[in-house]
Amino acid sequence: MKRVYNFAPGPSTMPQEVLEQAAREMLCYGDTGMNVMEMSHRSKQYQAIFDETEATLRELMHIPQDYSVLFLQGGATGQFAAIPMNLMTGSGAADYVDSGNFAHGALVEAGKYGKVNVAASSRDDKYAYIPELDASKFNPDADYFYITTNNTIYGTRYHTLPETGRVPLVADMSSNILSEVYDVSRFGVIYAGAQKNVGPAGLTIVIVRRDLLGRAMPITPKIMDWTIMDEKGSMLNTPPTYAIYMAGLCMKWLKKQGGVEAIEKVNIEKAKLLYDALDDSDFYRPTARPDSRSRMNVTFTTPSPELDAEFVKAGAARDLVNLKGHRLVGGIRASIYNAMPVEGVKALVAFMKSFEMEHK
Ligand SMILES: *Cc1c(COP(=O)(O)O)cnc(C)c1O
Repeated sequence: MKRVYNFAPGPSTMPQEVLEQAAREMLCYGDTGMNVMEMSHRSKQYQAIFDETEATLRELMHIPQDYSVLFLQGGATGQFAAIPMNLMTGSGAADYVDSGNFAHGALVEAGKYGKVNVAASSRDDKYAYIPELDASKFNPDADYFYITTNNTIYGTRYHTLPETGRVPLVADMSSNILSEVYDVSRFGVIYAGAQKNVGPAGLTIVIVRRDLLGRAMPITPKIMDWTIMDEKGSMLNTPPTYAIYMAGLCMKWLKKQGGVEAIEKVNIEKAKLLYDALDDSDFYRPTARPDSRSRMNVTFTTPSPELDAEFVKAGAARDLVNLKGHRLVGGIRASIYNAMPVEGVKALVAFMKSFEMEHK
């Protein structure tokens, strides 16, 4: 059997142990005589899987009781619309930080429902860093303040969070949830598509402080209305049952690794291996500004686009796959989420050195 080191940005690599367990349970989960995806979402057996997944997530992230955890569909992109529809009903305005393509997509979407103030932007500098945040430019009457904690395409990450006072902080954590410790109580809403660092595609996690429920616009579709979804235990309709089960297996795997606190240390080590290799070389050029570097997506270039393409191809021939940068920016990107073992990063660093020797 062949397993590659998969540096894909999402959907992305999964822990092998999780895949093996899912395989063992493929024909029969427990004593049910069926696979999880064949179960009714209203069955006792499925509810137990669902409840355990939520409990494990709460434990891993230390989510306070006054936060609701929702398991939804529609991806992070669905939440670009759901967020304004659920929250933009006070002053009708919100602050957004334009730190990347997904942040930009979110603020354009929000503009359909209310007034968007771009509090800071690095758009004119190809999103190579997290823009400086000047609190005097924040709107004190904003319904929320929106950030993207990790910018997947550009390889940048907030190293400090903005102080937004009583304005709720809303964070797209799609590409770094569960990779580092966050104090959930600093946020009004945290949300993430699962397919980067949580599990398979199809599941969207929304963690919302309960006092922010009950504010949705009347036009909000029921399946996007956090208040209704909270009342229905995320089961207004059929939830993504198998994706939730798989995410639960990944969360239990993470717990076995020592939880978020422990994996954060490994993630720091992995990122350091790569950035050190980049900084030690005058062949490779890291593209994110050092003070904004991501630990999940490491972006860089070789001396030319032709060599970038050659690097990606030669890497794949050595079972180091999906290293191509996003089509918007080109270059090379190594996504090293929780499930990427240190050995995978070491193999990539060794390949980088040999490729440099051959092409210098
Ligand atoms: C991938 C990604 C998205 C888009 O996620 P979908 O689930 O495909 O809608 C949004 N934001 C960030 C930060 C992402 O990495």
